[in-house]
Amino acid sequence: MTTDELKQQRHKERQQRLKAQVDSAVAGAVDEKGLLLVITGNGKGKSTSGFGTVARATGHGYTAAVVQFIKGSWDCGERNLLQQHGVQFAVMATGFTWDTQDKAADIAAAEQVWLQAEQFLADPSIDLVLLDELTYMLSYHYLPLARIEQALLQRPPAQHVVITGRACHRRLIELADTVSEVQNVKHAFDNGIKAQRGIDW
Ligand code: ATP
Ligand code: MG
Repeated sequence: MTTDELKQQRHKERQQRLKAQVDSAVAGAVDEKGLLLVITGNGKGKSTSGFGTVARATGHGYTAAVVQFIKGSWDCGERNLLQQHGVQFAVMATGFTWDTQDKAADIAAAEQVWLQAEQFLADPSIDLVLLDELTYMLSYHYLPLARIEQALLQRPPAQHVVITGRACHRRLIELADTVSEVQNVKHAFDNGIKAQRGIDW
């Protein structure tokens, strides 16, 4: 056997072992349930990931709803697209922004949009709910943890939920099935490049 043939044979054996491991892990994963996913961290890509999941589910014919826990009067590419495909949106139209000034108005807006979130989380006809930037409602103490926890725990058993935002509360991380932390390696903004339409919103 030549050196190349030997290398090829070893590669094949390694791949066979890997395939056996993956196959056995896949065969062992048999449970089906509504998942709670958390996408947190300081890097860019949390909301993009949440909306990507909504697009993925919608593409399979599932019903999805999105709650945006930030001032939603801005243009939003995902909303423009996904509403055309039947995705319901509840948007915090007034109040909370990154540079919040009026706490009472923010809390009122948070409570109002949370009522809509609770409706989505109680509706078994909705397969996936995205709670975009929910984490800030807890870090700013705009919504009580107990109320969020209750709605998540009592949701229809097959319903999936995605929560995004920085500095996710540890209780939500405990409750979640899948948690990803997006790390900031570099960001164009740090080099003075402004947010780009179609990339940043
Ligand atoms: P995206 O919506 O692009 O997936 P994100 O949800 O991970 O971003 P947010 O904290 O919600 O991040 O920030 C929203 C906006 O801030 C986006 O325009 C995004 O590009 C920008 N941004 C995200 N991460 C960073 C960062 N590390 N430095 C500067 N700007 C950022
Ligand atoms: Mg975001």
